[in-house]
Amino acid sequence: MKRFKTLTAVVLSCFFAVSAAGCGGSSSETEGEAAEEEAVEDAAEETETDEAEASAVTTVQDGLLIWGTNAAFEPYEYMEGDVVVGIDAEIADAIAEKLGLTAQVENMDFDAVIPSVTTGKVDIGLAGMTVNEERLNNVNFSDPYVEAGQAIIVPEGSDITSAADLEGKIVGVQRGTTGDEYVSTEENGIGAASVERFSNGPDAAQSLLTGKIDAIVLDNEPSKKIVANSTGLVVLDELLTSEEYAIAVAKENTALLDAINEALDELEESGELQEILDKYLNIEE
Ligand code: GLN
Repeated sequence: MKRFKTLTAVVLSCFFAVSAAGCGGSSSETEGEAAEEEAVEDAAEETETDEAEASAVTTVQDGLLIWGTNAAFEPYEYMEGDVVVGIDAEIADAIAEKLGLTAQVENMDFDAVIPSVTTGKVDIGLAGMTVNEERLNNVNFSDPYVEAGQAIIVPEGSDITSAADLEGKIVGVQRGTTGDEYVSTEENGIGAASVERFSNGPDAAQSLLTGKIDAIVLDNEPSKKIVANSTGLVVLDELLTSEEYAIAVAKENTALLDAINEALDELEESGELQEILDKYLNIEE
């Protein structure tokens, strides 16, 4: 069995090398080589057909997979120069490639992402976006690709050491997020004196550093990045919620939803998804 595999490998490497240099040291084309070349061409044609099938999904703009996001959410999406990078950027590229499309990002406020999906401005919302009931009324979500939760950021030495200490405090959140919803919903018992809403986490962090607010409630991994990127802030260990991120797709585009779920499955099975997550999440800080 082992020998058979080795032999197959040799034959295959000849097969793939043939169009470039020929196999077995001869540079003149033999009948066998011609047949092999034909087989290579056939294989190439087959791949083209596969791609044509894969891109049979309808997108806003032919050939593109436009993803809406808020690129101030490191490590999921953030600016490096004028390029949007991060976990979601890599996932967008990997999915687009599988669908025979090119990923193109649209950067916007987080609370504009779902409306952009529903009005067909973008194909998908890929923004560290948590699946919740309210959003499910407006869009479909793919299978989840990561777990997350709301964390609390405070200045070093703050008297806030747990969620219970948020009572009576000024709490900053990112507008329209699950953190905003959690802190603003009375039944959750946070009891903040007031909730200050910001366009993104880094803006909230500026306000926290200047003492205008007492704490921030934000997703756990972005919270860790904010603390790592500034001096004088810490993130508490306690998580307020348990959430799952997934990709938002317009309700009527079920073909795209299915294709995305299939691509996500493949990325999970191949280990590629884990590699992307590890690259950004398991960094010693
Ligand atoms: N996970 C949070 C939400 O879905 C925050 C997402 C974000 O700010 N990008 O509301």
